[in-house]
Amino acid sequence: MATPPSKLRKVVIQRPKGTQDLFGDESARWEAVEALCRLQFKNAGYQEIRTPAFEHTELFERGVGEATDIVNKEMYTFEKSERRLSLRPEGTAGVVRSFIEQGMGRWPKPVKLYYMGPMFRYERPQAGRQRQFHQVGVELFGLDTPASDAEVILMAMRLFESLGLPNLSLQINNIGTAACRETFKAGLKVRVQPYLSQLCADCQTRYDSNPLRMLDCKNTACQSIYGLPDIQQFLQTDFTSEACQAHFAQLLSILDALKVPYQRNFMLVRGLDYYTKTVFEITSTNLGAQNAVCGGGRYNTLVEDLGGPETPAIGWALGLERLMSLVGALPVKPLDYYIVTDQHAAAFDLAEQLRAQHHRVEVDLSGKGFGKQLERAAKLNATQVLILGEAEAKNGEVQLKILATKAQSVVPYSQLFER
Ligand code: ATP
Ligand code: MG
Repeated sequence: MATPPSKLRKVVIQRPKGTQDLFGDESARWEAVEALCRLQFKNAGYQEIRTPAFEHTELFERGVGEATDIVNKEMYTFEKSERRLSLRPEGTAGVVRSFIEQGMGRWPKPVKLYYMGPMFRYERPQAGRQRQFHQVGVELFGLDTPASDAEVILMAMRLFESLGLPNLSLQINNIGTAACRETFKAGLKVRVQPYLSQLCADCQTRYDSNPLRMLDCKNTACQSIYGLPDIQQFLQTDFTSEACQAHFAQLLSILDALKVPYQRNFMLVRGLDYYTKTVFEITSTNLGAQNAVCGGGRYNTLVEDLGGPETPAIGWALGLERLMSLVGALPVKPLDYYIVTDQHAAAFDLAEQLRAQHHRVEVDLSGKGFGKQLERAAKLNATQVLILGEAEAKNGEVQLKILATKAQSVVPYSQLFER
């Protein structure tokens, strides 16, 4: 299976295509956004779950679906000890596997979880599309109520609003149960049949294996065929059962009452096999071609399909890279104190006490003269400098210098802690 070493392509030691290093101000921005996500999820009673970055390949084949692009073409799969393993291309399958394995079906319902971490898909890298990217997601298990759909969707919308994201649109659709879809699939095939030869190779395969998925195709030629009036007219008939339609109507009425704007998008089917009833996507016109920042939906049979107890569920995942490209500048906590010193034991002691009061404090470690150290403090934009030389250390005081005004005064440690 493996390519012999002599045939492997030579690589320069650089990051692999489609991956990124995250550092400096950018990683500070990520940290701030991740912290906001955690806070909002926790405040709504969602607990973090951390699952492995790789799982048995069979989990994704069964969980995401063998006929999906993700499983067909995009997985990083390898063999160890005669077992196939894959880097996770998405988060839900692993969370569901863990839900079953850890017996969460016996917990009080609903079970509300969130996760964040890297995902891996072997796609063509371009703006907004990486091979290693990061998702934040939430999953709610155990209820099939329109209120659960509303809570989960609302959490995403409120998160984006609190980050000030521009030009968002919530696209939403009801795709019913697998049973609802049977007549729809057949009808879609009849209408698409005359154009079959004009579709891309993928859609020609999907026509047989997974006809609904044709609508999710990114190819513009395919999209213009699905946009033809006779096909559109067919798509806009609601093919779902009365119960599914009632569920969807109740969800929409909650969104209406909360003034959450949305667009019913009859073309929205999502790229994964496991969805039932509600599906949605949040897009931004500020994102260009890769315009979806968040996608999700209800998956009422996945837990059972993977061998667990009958458990309805709903969830979503957002792409952090795309989200971050929409988030503007974020406030950064300034450096409160820079300690200029040649008395390191005293300086560390002072720094620790100030940090215990939640100040950001750095101690100069260079051993250079105080003039050079002050230059460094200015470069770091420290609000205040504490000069701690031998005499000051002996007296339990510091020279406090405000960099903006250049004002300088001698203050005892105790006065610093009172401030
Ligand atoms: P797209 O239609 O853009 O390919 P998708 O339907 O494959 O998205 P999901 O599987 O629903 O995406 O994943 C949820 C979110 O994860 C997407 O809305 C997007 O923000 C992000 N995402 C998916 N694939 C990538 C990728 N290769 N690089 C960066 N972000 C991604
Ligand atoms: Mg995709």
